[in-house]
Amino acid sequence: MKQKDCIFCKMADREIPSRIIFENDFTLAFLDISPISKGHTIVIPKNHYSNLEVIPDYELSEVYKVVKNLAIRIHKKIKIDGYNVLQNNFVAAGQVIKHFHVHVIPRNNDDEKFRIKIPRVQASEEELEEIFEILKA
Ligand SMILES: [Zn+2]
Repeated sequence: MKQKDCIFCKMADREIPSRIIFENDFTLAFLDISPISKGHTIVIPKNHYSNLEVIPDYELSEVYKVVKNLAIRIHKKIKIDGYNVLQNNFVAAGQVIKHFHVHVIPRNNDDEKFRIKIPRVQASEEELEEIFEILKA
């Protein structure tokens, strides 16, 4: 399942070259060409799924197994203090390429990445109760 004009599908098909650091039957992992930090890696399913809501559970679990293994590899082989695992869905959340993908972003204690102050406000009991009633199973 590939989609025409999808850059990640083309990378999976080798129509576009990439620096692949891992591959198996279901997944491909490659270095981001516009990295947030050295070693910034993207893991994708080889099949095209636009976001988290439509990727089958089995392939999702395969992708995250690779994310875990590569996170460990990156942490061991590059001098870093930690890493972010980031996965954006829909434009509002910053998704640019509409092929499900997971970022592994190496971090250091003093790198100042993502240090923007995101405002958070303590929710009232009423607000929490209202959203709890909507979301609970
Ligand atoms: Zn695709």
